[in-house]
Amino acid sequence: MKTIGVLGGMSAESTAVYYRELNRLVRERLGGLHSAELLIRSVDFAPIAELQAKDDWDATGALLAEAATRLEGGGAEVIVLATNTMHLNADAICDAIGVPFLHIGDATAAALKARGVRRPLLLATRFTMEKDFYKDRLRAAGLDPLIPSDADRERLQAIIYDELCQGMVKPTSQAEGMLMVERGRAAGADGVIFGCTEVGLLLSPGDIDVPVVDTSIVHCEAAVEFALG
Ligand code: GLU
Repeated sequence: MKTIGVLGGMSAESTAVYYRELNRLVRERLGGLHSAELLIRSVDFAPIAELQAKDDWDATGALLAEAATRLEGGGAEVIVLATNTMHLNADAICDAIGVPFLHIGDATAAALKARGVRRPLLLATRFTMEKDFYKDRLRAAGLDPLIPSDADRERLQAIIYDELCQGMVKPTSQAEGMLMVERGRAAGADGVIFGCTEVGLLLSPGDIDVPVVDTSIVHCEAAVEFALG
């Protein structure tokens, strides 16, 4: 089994999901007392979120590239970055390391296509929904992502940063999230991407009547597939 390096902390709430899921998937594959060979480099999210708000992506890229080299130096044989948004810095990270980097957008696109989705609603941070880095990755795979209205994007951004990343899951926000899904369905979405690693803490795929891809889960599946071959 290869050692998986998780670059996390963005937020710590979703990195906990990665830890649980990676171990669960390895146990499911190998049985008994098996668990994942893992290294986690979990950063303090507050200074990174401040840099995001200032649109200083060179600074976040330098920080994450450095953190990734530490994971590699510690023995990681493959690296996963446990946040969609920070894949904006995927190139900076890949340039700094010599081991494979499993892009969350690729795992997501493959899962959507396997479920027959073509026009997924992307529920994510404002950065992921509005900038092109993520949607372009999906488009390159033949998908046609939709994003919520400006008002919904603003509200979702607040739910992610002010609630989910701080360990709060409010029923009122869950209801708002479901309304966003309904509006996306009415606009023609034939699937939903939980395109922020915290969205799976808010919404449940079982409550949604089209295929759902939770990026944190499919990213963990890709990592375990790579680690176990
Ligand atoms: N975890 C989130 C994501 O998947 C949002 C926090 C961040 O900006 O990293 O995009």
